[in-house]
Amino acid sequence: MKLALALLVAAGLQGQERTLPQPRVVDPGGPAKPPSDAIMLFNGKDMSGWRTLTGGPGKCTVADGVMSCRTGAGDIISSQTFLDAQIHIEFAVPYMPDQHGQLRGNSGVYLQSCYEVQILDSYQNPTYADGSLGAVYGFSAPLVNAARRPDEWQSYDIIFRAPRCGADGKVAQPGSATILLNGVLVQDHTPIPKAGPGCRQKDICGPGPLRLQDHSGFKGAPDTTMRFRNIWLRRLGQ
Ligand code: MG
Repeated sequence: MKLALALLVAAGLQGQERTLPQPRVVDPGGPAKPPSDAIMLFNGKDMSGWRTLTGGPGKCTVADGVMSCRTGAGDIISSQTFLDAQIHIEFAVPYMPDQHGQLRGNSGVYLQSCYEVQILDSYQNPTYADGSLGAVYGFSAPLVNAARRPDEWQSYDIIFRAPRCGADGKVAQPGSATILLNGVLVQDHTPIPKAGPGCRQKDICGPGPLRLQDHSGFKGAPDTTMRFRNIWLRRLGQ
């Protein structure tokens, strides 16, 4: 009797599986090729798709598929805006042995122009933990320090869930970020409860761009050239 019941349940489950819609097909791409449903934020050829905070053309230079942003270029934001998203970005921080802590190669990836995923040379360069590479700046230190040496290419893969606001405009459901640095988990569904330091988004629950930080506006910050490549995102559930 028990066996008959088990077979019936199994048959029922199988039937249910047959009625489920098939997953959408996505070509996963490869090391330098994004998934087929990704939106390219950087075309590898020029700065179209990026602008300054005041709306001018992005001032970084582009060669060989790499965007180089010198001190003074200012923060740049993507034309594309998003809520929930999977984001990929590769970056290389300069080698600045004469500097220490936050004054070494320093940039950042602001999700929705509001929450900074820190970019810093954190290879043998201690600083406050929630300001090191892999941190959600001011909110959460990385689980581990998975930094490569400066001048080497590194990558972030970020699953961002944007906060949701109630009718009063205040955050009713915090956002979150899950982040892999160089393929290593550094943030595991980390809650983002409110606007972060340096937020430039008025409606923190509305769609926002990706913003790349020019750290030179900070007191005593030395000249830096940050490099970026292969920047794309996939919108999630929209
Ligand atoms: Mg930074």
